[in-house]
Amino acid sequence: MSIVFVISAPSGAGKSTLVERLRQRDSNLDFATSVTTRPPRDREIDGEAYCFVSADRFKAMIDRDELMEWAEVFGHLYGTPTAAVKRAFAKGKDLLLDIDVQGAALLLKKLPDAVTIFVLPPSRAALEQRLRDRCSDDEAAISKRLGEASREVAVCGAYDHIVINEDVEDAVSRLHGILIAERSRRANMQPRIAPILQSFGIQQEQDPEVNS
Ligand code: 5GP
Repeated sequence: MSIVFVISAPSGAGKSTLVERLRQRDSNLDFATSVTTRPPRDREIDGEAYCFVSADRFKAMIDRDELMEWAEVFGHLYGTPTAAVKRAFAKGKDLLLDIDVQGAALLLKKLPDAVTIFVLPPSRAALEQRLRDRCSDDEAAISKRLGEASREVAVCGAYDHIVINEDVEDAVSRLHGILIAERSRRANMQPRIAPILQSFGIQQEQDPEVNS
């Protein structure tokens, strides 16, 4: 059974780099390509990180109930196509969704077993520095992103796991550790447990009292 991992972070926390590195490290992880009305940035290819669509096309997808979740982020619409999620499930892979906090809350209503991970910057000052270092935003855009970041980090307590991105290598290792730990949960190990127990002549896994 596929596990859905949802990863959220404020803009500038370094999530894209972490997601890219995690995908390189973990071959059992699939990625659902979101649709967005945001225009492509430099070197972004349609169909890779995003499928770039018009507002009309996005609205038609909402009307046809083709999106698992969607939200407006920084004035643009972003959504996860249900078909992309189904494709990952059909491949038997786990799925990583890079979505904002509003989308994560909506997704959990449809997929309550999804595992949620929030990436925090080491501090507000560090986030501000990173946004300035990117040099891609003017002052107004930076303060807008910082304001939005405060609203986003305020809900990190609703997530299952927190990763602080102080050092990229460490953060990627922690993310990978979360993936491995979640896959090791007994419910997720069931298909592998049954044949091992059968080799011991035990037909069904028993639920022993831990302290008995
Ligand atoms: P960016 O435009 O910088 O790539 O992404 C802006 C924000 O949109 C990020 O917080 C990212 O996680 C979020 N985002 C990307 N795809 C989706 C999606 O399919 N649904 C939702 N709700 N948010 C998304």
